[in-house]
Amino acid sequence: MTAPFSWIRPEPWGVHVVPADAWIDPGRAVDRALVTHGHADHARGGHGETIATPETLAIMKLRYRSGAEDENGEIPTKAVPVEYGETIRLPGGVDATYIPAGHVLGSAQILLEHVGERVVITGDYKRRPDPTCPPFEVTPCDIFITEATFGLPVFTHPPIEDEMAKLLKAREDHPEGSVLVGAYALGKAQRVIAELRAAGHTEPIYLHGAMEKMCRLYEEHGVNLGELKLVADHSKDDMRSSIIVAPPSALGDRWSRRLPDPVTAMASGWMRVRGRARQRNVQLPLIISDHADWNELTTTIAEVNPQETWITHGREEALLRWCQLNQRKARALALVGREDEDE
Ligand SMILES: [Zn+2]
Ligand SMILES: [Zn+2]
Repeated sequence: MTAPFSWIRPEPWGVHVVPADAWIDPGRAVDRALVTHGHADHARGGHGETIATPETLAIMKLRYRSGAEDENGEIPTKAVPVEYGETIRLPGGVDATYIPAGHVLGSAQILLEHVGERVVITGDYKRRPDPTCPPFEVTPCDIFITEATFGLPVFTHPPIEDEMAKLLKAREDHPEGSVLVGAYALGKAQRVIAELRAAGHTEPIYLHGAMEKMCRLYEEHGVNLGELKLVADHSKDDMRSSIIVAPPSALGDRWSRRLPDPVTAMASGWMRVRGRARQRNVQLPLIISDHADWNELTTTIAEVNPQETWITHGREEALLRWCQLNQRKARALALVGREDEDE
């Protein structure tokens, strides 16, 4: 008789599923990796076998091809696709089920079942509706391993409709100019575009070249982004009164000089922090996050109602304290290399 949950072991570079010798989102190359989603701090290259949703595998393939391979320049050798709701049997009698996490295209929580014990690893997640991916599903389990990127009570994300209204108003107020929105190339950019469409904005949206392939990949997976044009193919005059989406690094770059008098916006959960907006010279901060905010983190723990909550990447202390105050058993995992690249 082994101790309960001794088959699941958190290590600094990932969560080890011992009987299957598999790792969840490992930060180094392993023989068998279960990957929750395509952001670089979760999906690295060089694994012997990569098990992920077809969308995540497509994203990983695109990123490796475009030069974003891991530090050794390696790409995954064997890709095993798992659809949402599908369960695969791993060696050692462990079942893994991929469940929507609502974070970006293809993002999944992973439910692991072994000897009657259930563990859910959220990866990154949010609870708000997102036109680019299916919503997070609450999955009962014994151990719930949650992210805590915005794990402080100060982080409450406003309704996305408010942020879209600000963006559309800025465009209206600058008919001779343009609005340049900084947004990460995987997830945030496509969500902003899809939300603009949902808000009734039907004009062409202009893209920085670095955004094009990922937007096409989203479209190939059924996400409608409307009419997209490349900045490189157009003159300043063409782009007057338009919205332009670019990676955050392009905001203060020489590149932006080709745009007609741009108002600089940035879409990120961190725009809640005024200093961050100032640092980047952002005139129009848009608080748009693909992570759960404080209320969503705590509500989700209450809804999942696990025996134990393990907290990773981000601000673990406040959420740990909240669990203790609510008589919930919890611990912080010291996973390394979890960055906020997606925000
Ligand atoms: Zn992420
Ligand atoms: Zn993450």
